[in-house]
Amino acid sequence: MAAKPLGEPETKQEQEQLLSARIPVAAPVLDGREAEYVAECIETEWISSNGRFISAFESAFAEFCGVKHAIAVNNGTTALHLALVALGIEAGDEVIVPTLTYIASANCVRYCNAVPVLVDSDRQTMNMDPAKVAAAVTPKTKAIIPVHLYGHPVDMDPLREIADKHGLFLVEDAAEAIGASYKDKRVGGLGHCATFSFFGNKIITTGEGGMVTTDDDELAAKLRLFKGQGMDPNRRYWFNVVGYNYRMTNVAAAIGLAQMERVDQHLSRRAQVASAYNAKLSALADFIELPVTANWATHSHWMYVITLKDSVAKSRDAVMAALDKENIETRPVFYPMHHMPPYQEDRTYPIAEHLSARGINLPTHGRMTERDIDRVVDALRRAVID
Ligand SMILES: *Cc1c(COP(=O)(O)O)cnc(C)c1O
Repeated sequence: MAAKPLGEPETKQEQEQLLSARIPVAAPVLDGREAEYVAECIETEWISSNGRFISAFESAFAEFCGVKHAIAVNNGTTALHLALVALGIEAGDEVIVPTLTYIASANCVRYCNAVPVLVDSDRQTMNMDPAKVAAAVTPKTKAIIPVHLYGHPVDMDPLREIADKHGLFLVEDAAEAIGASYKDKRVGGLGHCATFSFFGNKIITTGEGGMVTTDDDELAAKLRLFKGQGMDPNRRYWFNVVGYNYRMTNVAAAIGLAQMERVDQHLSRRAQVASAYNAKLSALADFIELPVTANWATHSHWMYVITLKDSVAKSRDAVMAALDKENIETRPVFYPMHHMPPYQEDRTYPIAEHLSARGINLPTHGRMTERDIDRVVDALRRAVID
């Protein structure tokens, strides 16, 4: 089914309300069978971590990503931790992570008492720079976590070469990138395994939730084992390993299945929002850099990112404050890990620092109207020009 054009308000009163209403930076779109499926959970009393929606959601997700296995978990952070546990990452191992990411990508390494080794970003894609990754490999390195930041896939071929050469695992952090693809292959199947998040601001949501995908049967069995307290699949209440309770509920999976039934619409809406921004913001090229999509990439447009040029005298925070005054919510690009207390380092990562200092996420979600986009563009124009 083709996506409808961006929604328009109908009555005059609706129009006036919409003209001044706060535009959130993110918003879930629950316009499919979410309520019906959740009601089924309540009516049938299958509300905990058994029930038909869990396997149905996992199958739909695996099929969409083009992988053999999808294992549902309770959030995107536990998905990352579970992946590292199942791969056998241990104390003292090194795992290479971009410094410019959400904190969960680094925290999961620490949960294993392993060492996150930070690398700088590529200027165009904002993702980890493969040349920096190659330089960061040591005899202790066990894995690389490419993060498809804001929905732009990482340049995976050079990373695969590095991983093959040194015998490293590739764990995609695809929390922000469902539907993105690298050279016509969807994220989720580009490494040994991949993780996703279904937090309320992500492209597909279950409230809280996550998924691990893999083509490896043995790894899939380990992921299921460790997610369910380590219980022996052939002997109830017998445990051979220390596992975790990282299970997703049937209620969350019910929402997830309904979301997956409309995943193409969710993605095409976002693509429409991004292309509207691209068209309307091109006039501000002297002041802001627009996001670029590499020619080998399909972007999932989780967040639309602009970077203020030097010609804008105002600080990034001042520009965000100006938008906030016009009732438009934005977010700063992530703070680099090495600037925050748990991962503090003295050395500099100049590209990540620049992108973080001057980058802004504009509102990006499937309920934005053409007028919302015009309001953001007009407010941004005023903020950067004066
Ligand atoms: C959202 C996110 C996560 C974590 O997901 P939660 O479901 O919030 O735990 C991990 N990595 C990245 C890059 C994310 O954006």
